[in-house]
Amino acid sequence: MKDFLPKVNSYIKEAFSAGKYLFDGFTVTFDHLRRRPVTVQYPYEKLIPSERYRGRIHYEFDKCIACEVCVRVCPINLPVVDWVMNKETKKKELRNYSIDFGVCIFCGNCVEYCPTNCLSMTEEYELATFDRHNLNFDNIALGRLPTNVTTDPSVKPLRELAYLPKGVMDPHEVPPSDVRVGKLPEEVYDWMKPEVNDNRDPAITPKN
Ligand code: SF4
Ligand code: SF4
Repeated sequence: MKDFLPKVNSYIKEAFSAGKYLFDGFTVTFDHLRRRPVTVQYPYEKLIPSERYRGRIHYEFDKCIACEVCVRVCPINLPVVDWVMNKETKKKELRNYSIDFGVCIFCGNCVEYCPTNCLSMTEEYELATFDRHNLNFDNIALGRLPTNVTTDPSVKPLRELAYLPKGVMDPHEVPPSDVRVGKLPEEVYDWMKPEVNDNRDPAITPKN
Protein backbone atom coordinates (compact mmCIF):
# COMPACT_ATOMS: atom_id res chain seq x y z
CA MET A 1 0.00 0.00 0.00
CA LYS A 2 2.94 2.27 0.78
CA ASP A 3 4.32 1.90 -2.78
CA PHE A 4 0.93 1.77 -4.43
CA LEU A 5 -0.18 5.37 -3.84
CA PRO A 6 2.98 7.05 -5.28
CA LYS A 7 2.69 4.76 -8.32
CA VAL A 8 -0.94 5.77 -8.87
CA ASN A 9 0.06 9.36 -8.40
CA SER A 10 2.84 9.08 -10.98
CA TYR A 11 0.52 7.24 -13.40
CA ILE A 12 -2.09 9.99 -13.17
CA LYS A 13 0.58 12.66 -13.75
CA GLU A 14 1.87 10.85 -16.85
CA ALA A 15 -1.65 10.29 -18.19
CA PHE A 16 -2.41 13.98 -17.67
CA SER A 17 0.83 14.97 -19.40
CA ALA A 18 0.10 12.61 -22.35
CA GLY A 19 -3.37 14.12 -22.66
CA LYS A 20 -1.88 17.62 -22.70
CA TYR A 21 0.54 16.68 -25.51
CA LEU A 22 -2.32 15.14 -27.50
CA PHE A 23 -4.39 18.28 -27.00
CA ASP A 24 -1.46 20.48 -28.14
CA GLY A 25 -1.05 18.32 -31.27
CA PHE A 26 -4.74 18.52 -32.15
CA THR A 27 -4.72 22.29 -31.57
CA VAL A 28 -2.13 22.63 -34.35
CA THR A 29 -4.07 20.22 -36.60
CA PHE A 30 -7.39 22.02 -36.14
CA ASP A 31 -5.69 25.39 -36.56
CA HIS A 32 -4.44 24.26 -40.01
CA LEU A 33 -7.95 23.17 -40.97
CA ARG A 34 -9.01 26.82 -40.83
CA ARG A 35 -6.13 28.04 -43.00
CA ARG A 36 -6.18 28.70 -46.72
CA PRO A 37 -4.43 26.24 -49.03
CA VAL A 38 -1.02 27.42 -50.20
CA THR A 39 -0.54 24.98 -53.06
CA VAL A 40 -2.12 24.79 -56.51
CA GLN A 41 -2.19 21.94 -59.02
CA TYR A 42 0.68 23.31 -61.10
CA PRO A 43 1.05 23.19 -64.13
CA TYR A 44 -2.68 22.69 -64.72
CA GLU A 45 -3.48 25.60 -62.41
CA LYS A 46 -1.39 28.72 -62.03
CA LEU A 47 -1.63 31.67 -59.71
CA ILE A 48 -2.16 35.06 -61.30
CA PRO A 49 0.90 37.16 -60.34
CA SER A 50 0.38 40.45 -58.55
CA GLU A 51 0.27 43.72 -60.49
CA ARG A 52 3.84 44.68 -59.62
CA TYR A 53 5.32 41.25 -60.18
CA ARG A 54 8.88 41.47 -61.51
CA GLY A 55 9.17 38.71 -64.06
CA ARG A 56 11.13 38.31 -67.28
CA ILE A 57 12.15 41.64 -68.81
CA HIS A 58 10.63 42.63 -72.16
CA TYR A 59 12.74 44.73 -74.50
CA GLU A 60 11.83 46.79 -77.56
CA PHE A 61 14.77 47.01 -79.94
CA ASP A 62 13.30 49.84 -82.02
CA LYS A 63 12.99 52.17 -79.03
CA CYS A 64 16.49 51.59 -77.64
CA ILE A 65 18.96 54.45 -78.19
CA ALA A 66 21.99 52.51 -76.89
CA CYS A 67 22.55 55.07 -74.12
CA GLU A 68 23.71 52.33 -71.69
CA VAL A 69 21.91 53.88 -68.74
CA CYS A 70 20.55 50.42 -67.97
CA VAL A 71 24.10 49.11 -67.66
CA ARG A 72 25.18 51.89 -65.33
CA VAL A 73 22.21 51.55 -62.97
CA CYS A 74 22.36 47.75 -62.89
CA PRO A 75 24.02 46.60 -59.64
CA ILE A 76 26.02 44.06 -61.62
CA ASN A 77 26.35 45.92 -64.94
CA LEU A 78 24.50 43.08 -66.57
CA PRO A 79 22.84 44.26 -69.80
CA VAL A 80 25.15 43.96 -72.81
CA VAL A 81 24.56 46.79 -75.29
CA ASP A 82 26.41 46.05 -78.53
CA TRP A 83 26.64 49.14 -80.72
CA VAL A 84 28.95 50.76 -83.26
CA MET A 85 29.43 54.41 -84.11
CA ASN A 86 28.34 55.34 -87.62
CA LYS A 87 30.98 57.84 -88.70
CA GLU A 88 28.84 59.30 -91.45
CA THR A 89 25.77 60.04 -89.37
CA LYS A 90 27.79 60.34 -86.15
CA LYS A 91 25.16 58.26 -84.40
CA LYS A 92 25.24 55.00 -82.52
CA GLU A 93 23.96 51.96 -84.37
CA LEU A 94 22.61 49.25 -82.13
CA ARG A 95 23.64 45.73 -83.12
CA ASN A 96 22.48 43.56 -80.27
CA TYR A 97 21.20 43.73 -76.71
CA SER A 98 21.17 40.93 -74.18
CA ILE A 99 20.42 40.20 -70.53
CA ASP A 100 21.46 37.00 -68.79
CA PHE A 101 18.56 35.94 -66.57
CA GLY A 102 20.82 33.39 -64.90
CA VAL A 103 22.55 36.34 -63.22
CA CYS A 104 19.85 39.04 -63.15
CA ILE A 105 18.34 39.66 -59.72
CA PHE A 106 15.15 41.23 -61.16
CA CYS A 107 15.65 44.40 -59.14
CA GLY A 108 13.99 46.47 -61.89
CA ASN A 109 16.56 49.29 -61.87
CA CYS A 110 17.16 49.08 -65.62
CA VAL A 111 13.40 49.29 -66.26
CA GLU A 112 13.04 52.21 -63.87
CA TYR A 113 15.79 54.33 -65.40
CA CYS A 114 15.56 53.54 -69.13
CA PRO A 115 14.89 56.96 -70.74
CA THR A 116 12.87 55.54 -73.64
CA ASN A 117 10.84 52.99 -71.67
CA CYS A 118 11.94 50.21 -73.97
CA LEU A 119 12.32 47.86 -71.01
CA SER A 120 9.42 46.54 -68.97
CA MET A 121 8.89 43.81 -66.42
CA THR A 122 6.41 41.13 -67.36
CA GLU A 123 4.58 38.58 -65.25
CA GLU A 124 6.39 35.69 -66.94
CA TYR A 125 8.11 33.57 -64.32
CA GLU A 126 8.69 30.21 -66.00
CA LEU A 127 12.31 30.50 -67.03
CA ALA A 128 13.51 27.02 -66.09
CA THR A 129 15.94 25.48 -68.56
CA PHE A 130 18.31 22.51 -68.73
CA ASP A 131 21.24 24.65 -69.81
CA ARG A 132 22.09 27.85 -67.94
CA HIS A 133 23.40 29.42 -71.17
CA ASN A 134 19.86 29.39 -72.52
CA LEU A 135 19.04 32.02 -69.89
CA ASN A 136 21.14 34.55 -71.77
CA PHE A 137 18.37 36.27 -73.77
CA ASP A 138 19.34 38.29 -76.85
CA ASN A 139 17.19 41.10 -78.24
CA ILE A 140 14.99 38.65 -80.17
CA ALA A 141 14.28 36.51 -77.10
CA LEU A 142 13.79 39.63 -74.97
CA GLY A 143 11.38 41.05 -77.56
CA ARG A 144 9.10 38.01 -77.48
CA LEU A 145 5.69 38.81 -76.10
CA PRO A 146 5.36 37.44 -72.57
CA THR A 147 3.14 34.52 -71.72
CA ASN A 148 0.14 35.37 -69.62
CA VAL A 149 -1.62 33.08 -67.15
CA THR A 150 -5.04 34.59 -67.79
CA THR A 151 -4.92 34.25 -71.59
CA ASP A 152 -3.47 30.74 -71.72
CA PRO A 153 -6.39 28.38 -72.49
CA SER A 154 -4.46 25.32 -71.30
CA VAL A 155 -4.25 26.43 -67.66
CA LYS A 156 -6.74 27.41 -65.02
CA PRO A 157 -5.77 30.81 -63.59
CA LEU A 158 -6.29 31.14 -59.88
CA ARG A 159 -6.53 34.31 -57.95
CA GLU A 160 -3.71 35.05 -55.53
CA LEU A 161 -4.55 33.53 -52.20
CA ALA A 162 -4.03 36.88 -50.49
CA TYR A 163 -6.81 38.48 -52.53
CA LEU A 164 -9.57 35.99 -51.82
CA PRO A 165 -12.82 37.40 -50.40
CA LYS A 166 -13.18 37.23 -46.63
CA GLY A 167 -14.16 33.79 -45.40
CA VAL A 168 -13.38 32.05 -48.71
CA MET A 169 -10.86 29.31 -48.15
CA ASP A 170 -10.57 27.85 -51.62
CA PRO A 171 -9.56 29.86 -54.73
CA HIS A 172 -11.49 27.37 -56.89
CA GLU A 173 -14.77 28.63 -55.45
CA VAL A 174 -14.39 32.22 -56.65
CA PRO A 175 -15.95 32.97 -60.06
CA PRO A 176 -13.63 35.07 -62.29
CA SER A 177 -16.32 37.78 -62.52
CA ASP A 178 -16.14 38.40 -58.76
CA VAL A 179 -14.64 41.71 -57.70
CA ARG A 180 -11.10 41.24 -56.47
CA VAL A 181 -10.52 41.79 -52.79
CA GLY A 182 -7.88 44.36 -51.97
CA LYS A 183 -6.92 47.48 -53.85
CA LEU A 184 -4.81 47.92 -56.96
CA PRO A 185 -1.60 49.95 -56.43
CA GLU A 186 -3.09 53.03 -58.10
CA GLU A 187 -6.25 52.69 -55.98
CA VAL A 188 -4.13 52.51 -52.83
CA TYR A 189 -2.27 55.62 -53.96
CA ASP A 190 -5.52 57.50 -54.62
CA TRP A 191 -6.87 56.37 -51.28
CA MET A 192 -3.71 57.57 -49.49
CA LYS A 193 -3.42 60.87 -51.33
CA PRO A 194 -5.74 63.03 -49.19
CA GLU A 195 -4.27 61.56 -46.03
CA VAL A 196 -0.73 62.20 -47.24
CA ASN A 197 -1.68 65.75 -48.18
CA ASP A 198 -3.40 66.34 -44.83
CA ASN A 199 -0.42 65.14 -42.84
CA ARG A 200 2.21 66.91 -44.86
CA ASP A 201 4.66 68.93 -42.87
CA PRO A 202 4.53 72.50 -44.23
CA ALA A 203 8.25 72.82 -43.50
CA ILE A 204 9.13 70.08 -45.99
CA THR A 205 6.37 70.72 -48.55
CA PRO A 206 8.05 71.80 -51.79
CA LYS A 207 7.13 75.27 -52.99
CA ASN A 208 5.84 75.65 -56.53
S1 SF4 B 1 18.65 52.42 -70.91
FE1 SF4 B 1 17.06 51.82 -72.36
S2 SF4 B 1 17.53 53.03 -74.20
FE2 SF4 B 1 19.37 53.05 -72.94
S3 SF4 B 1 20.58 51.29 -73.68
FE3 SF4 B 1 19.36 50.56 -71.97
S4 SF4 B 1 17.54 49.72 -72.91
FE4 SF4 B 1 18.49 51.01 -74.46
S1 SF4 C 1 16.64 43.82 -63.32
FE1 SF4 C 1 18.33 44.60 -62.05
S2 SF4 C 1 19.90 43.01 -62.14
FE2 SF4 C 1 18.47 42.59 -63.83
S3 SF4 C 1 19.39 43.61 -65.59
FE3 SF4 C 1 17.95 45.06 -64.69
S4 SF4 C 1 19.17 46.31 -63.27
FE4 SF4 C 1 20.38 44.47 -63.77
